[in-house]
Amino acid sequence: MSNKCDVIVVGGGISGMAAAKLLHDCGLSVIVLEARDRVGGRTYTIRNKNVKYVDLGGSYVGPTQNRILRLAKELGLETYKVNEVERLIHFVKGKSYPFRGPFPPVWNPIIYLDYNNLWRTMDEMGQEIPSDAPWKAPLAEEWDYMTMKELLDKICWTKSTKHIATLFVNLCVTAETHEVSALWFLWYVKQCGGTTRIISTTNGGQERKFIGGSGQVSERIKDILGDRVKLERPVIHIDQTGENVVVKTLNHEIYEAKYVISAIPPVLGMKIHYSPPLPMLRNQLITRVPLGSVIKCMVYYKEPFWRKKDFCGTMVIEGEEAPIAYTLDDTKPDGSYPAIMGFILAHKARKLVRLTKEERLRKLCELYAKVLNSQEALQPVHYEEKNWCEEQYSGGCYTTYFPPGILTQYGRVLRQPVGKIFFAGTETASHWSGYMEGAVEAGERAAREILHAIGKIPEDEIWQPEPESVDVWMSLHDPLPAPSWSDTCLLYQAC
Ligand SMILES: Cc1cc2nc3c(=O)[nH]c(=O)nc-3n(C[C@H](O)[C@H](O)[C@H](O)COP(=O)(O)OP(=O)(O)OC[C@H]3O[C@@H](n4cnc5c(N)ncnc54)[C@H](O)[C@@H]3O)c2cc1C
Repeated sequence: MSNKCDVIVVGGGISGMAAAKLLHDCGLSVIVLEARDRVGGRTYTIRNKNVKYVDLGGSYVGPTQNRILRLAKELGLETYKVNEVERLIHFVKGKSYPFRGPFPPVWNPIIYLDYNNLWRTMDEMGQEIPSDAPWKAPLAEEWDYMTMKELLDKICWTKSTKHIATLFVNLCVTAETHEVSALWFLWYVKQCGGTTRIISTTNGGQERKFIGGSGQVSERIKDILGDRVKLERPVIHIDQTGENVVVKTLNHEIYEAKYVISAIPPVLGMKIHYSPPLPMLRNQLITRVPLGSVIKCMVYYKEPFWRKKDFCGTMVIEGEEAPIAYTLDDTKPDGSYPAIMGFILAHKARKLVRLTKEERLRKLCELYAKVLNSQEALQPVHYEEKNWCEEQYSGGCYTTYFPPGILTQYGRVLRQPVGKIFFAGTETASHWSGYMEGAVEAGERAAREILHAIGKIPEDEIWQPEPESVDVWMSLHDPLPAPSWSDTCLLYQAC
């Protein structure tokens, strides 16, 4: 097979694979150069006899994520609902409080006021931020120069509310409140549909998973593209000084194309040499955008014992001593391979990496035993974990975060082409950026930018709206509204 083609895609994650598939379907010749020995990138489904299959990276999908749902369906994948039949648990100050619904309830009237004000304020601020151009928000600079910690210090009056808000930030973006720009975080939540949508299982981002695992999305596109997908080919040089773009890989291969799609996290652009050098803003952008820190942990049990106690497996766990802040039931849809999925987030990932795998498992089981009030939690039958902070071709996970001051200065160039290089990757999306949905949006948009550049489609077809999935749709009353200010006042008076 020739090393010449119309388009070279750098990176075989969902974004690069979606881009390559669309171009291939339109009759263009493509080559995907992937650094790892597998496709899928930040999605990774492993298979073994103890787990059958399990997603160690991105996994959950839900209503409004219509692009990934459409693509996966076309590839023959089906979804199942994450278990949320029984009660959820909020664990705070050493005690478990069962609840139902997306947010742990609050009973103290003062805290209740503060708590409602928090979610409402974040959503209202989000409404001021354009999804496709957050730097154009009326108060963009003011909010961008502030960290989320500073914003929460301003909004929250009570410690309880600040603690749950901090957990919310840690969980959504695997970073600390002091690390991220307020503008960027508020944009991030907004472009996922708001606080309720992003946090919810039922009717939210965690509603479903793919039967057989999310890794199949990229694997099945690889099956279609065949030997056009080249593994273990880290790209190290992109040269656009001649008529065609010349791309070199670490193993000294040379590829040539009319266009390139870069579908890697922005910071990994630092591993590539460019001729001519990148323009100033892109050159500096890629040094300023780190990814979050997370270890995804799956503890397997003989039985889903939590369900017998009327718990669904969702635990929202507060406290510095707790290694895990959030869990979900990861039992297979037919009830086999009972498991609890948990995230070690942000600074806790950095702290707990010092332990051995066995020590981490023990800490997790002890925590689950306390939260679920069950000795059965101490009897795991298997454990899988993946520390995404050590992945040289990811740089961290789930996604890139923007420290204060960067989005307003450099955001504009995130998806601005550089000569014949077009930019994909979930970070360049405007809806569910950071997620598999954003990866598909970005990959397909970059592919259509090239279709436009070669005159195959008009400019106004580059960004295409996506019809709502017929299989996974929004509930009637949607999104679940957070209690309003007047509700809060009524409740306060009633107390
Ligand atoms: C623990 C965890 C949990 C998550 N949970 C969810 C979830 O529940 N739902 C959800 O939707 N999303 C989730 N995500 C995020 C989701 O997985 C990502 O947003 C998405 O997979 C990103 O796809 P991408 O193609 O943009 O980037 P990537 O998947 O990072 O793909 C980039 C590819 O480029 C390759 N590459 C890098 N450098 C080079 C180079 N120089 N040359 C060639 N190739 C290169 C990489 O190996 C990789 O394959 C999670 C992620 C993690 C890690």
